[in-house]
Amino acid sequence: MRQLPNSQKLFTKVVIFLLPFFLIGTFFGVPAESLCLGFICLSVWHYHQLSLLINWLWTKRGAYPPASKGIWADVFDGIYQQQRKHRKKRNELSVLVRRFRLGAESLPDAALVFNDDRTLVWCNSLAQSMLGFKWPEDMGNRIDNFLRQPEFIHYLESKNYDKPFELTSPESEFIILECRIAPFEKDKWTLIARDITQIKQMEQMRKDFIANVSHELRTPLTVMRGYLELLTESDVPDPIIWKKAHTMMNEQTIRMGGLVNQLLTLTKLENKQYVLTQSKVNVARLLNIIVEEANTLSDNEHLITLNADSELFIRSSEEQIRSAFSNLIFNAVRYTPKGQSINVSWKKTEEGGAKFTCQDTGDGIPAEHLSRLTERFYRVNQARTRDSGGSGLGLSIVKHILANHDSDLEISSTLNVGSCFSFTIPARFIVKEVTVVDE
Ligand code: ADP
Repeated sequence: MRQLPNSQKLFTKVVIFLLPFFLIGTFFGVPAESLCLGFICLSVWHYHQLSLLINWLWTKRGAYPPASKGIWADVFDGIYQQQRKHRKKRNELSVLVRRFRLGAESLPDAALVFNDDRTLVWCNSLAQSMLGFKWPEDMGNRIDNFLRQPEFIHYLESKNYDKPFELTSPESEFIILECRIAPFEKDKWTLIARDITQIKQMEQMRKDFIANVSHELRTPLTVMRGYLELLTESDVPDPIIWKKAHTMMNEQTIRMGGLVNQLLTLTKLENKQYVLTQSKVNVARLLNIIVEEANTLSDNEHLITLNADSELFIRSSEEQIRSAFSNLIFNAVRYTPKGQSINVSWKKTEEGGAKFTCQDTGDGIPAEHLSRLTERFYRVNQARTRDSGGSGLGLSIVKHILANHDSDLEISSTLNVGSCFSFTIPARFIVKEVTVVDE
């Protein structure tokens, strides 16, 4: 480390510098004038060093200091050391800031920092897309100019941030954000907003599901309880009443059983417990059986035609694909007035796959319902379909089964003309050679 000059040494140096001037001046009889000249020389030298310093600091910033001697060498060296220290600290700090920003950018949430007066200090890119900020344009703007929901402003004012706040995104009314605010540093706060739309939807679906299942089970249970009460009131029940009660209770038990079975199937499909057993399915033969069952369901009151390619086999789970076909064909029977026709077909597509179509001439479905038909418990006409024995789970089951075959259910319908339910099984499920395996 450089030895710092003390004032005594400095004084000695000045005296040594001026001594020759004094001695020469005394020799010529002008000591005072000569001493003055010495001081002027000293001042000129200091002034020169000063201008070197100014030049170095303002024009050659960052370069090495100019070479100097004596006290000025100490000054240059001292300033140079300080500059290096500051530069190092500044670099360290900017690395830290960059890391902090990168960290905040990699967060899966929107993050922003704001002042006590609610002006924006900084925000990450998710805050820009989810909360509508623009960075850096909005720096210094108040965050409540963007997040204007009165309840949120009240939450901000309360300064009680123990519980998170649920905010509708200003960018889309369908996005729900959970906002948490925490102190950042003195007079500053950080706000973290997380997209909880999916969690909210799941929560709603769970609530709807419980409400729907309870509702579906309540109706048959109410019917059964009514008959049971009637039977306990009379010791010897009237045979006619008893017969009716027995038929009704039997029907309701079958209905509840069917509902529970469908729920179990759906749960298995959703949990992917149904692994596709790789057997060759003779679809034409299967469709013949289902059409026969459909004729029984319809009491032969519909005209059901089947046009199936008998050489078009698929690799699938017979149980699953049967469930998909029968749900669609039985629906066509149930929602088509008696005397009308239903056409079922199973054909090869140009791409080498197979297309199933079930076209009926029923009342048709209003367009606004089409996109929701595969939702669990969704029915177009609640009362009518419940009377027809439907649970509202059939198409939902079909959708899951088709997903296992990389396929989607396509629905088209025209009011008073009829509906068409179809799907295409991709070529990779088609069995090339014709081998009847399930005879
Ligand atoms: P459901 O057990 O009530 O029939 P689905 O999931 O099978 O339940 O069908 C959902 C709804 O779609 C039905 O309630 C009915 O309103 C409508 N739907 C299904 N298939 C047809 C069809 N072929 N024609 C008219 N409406 C239909």
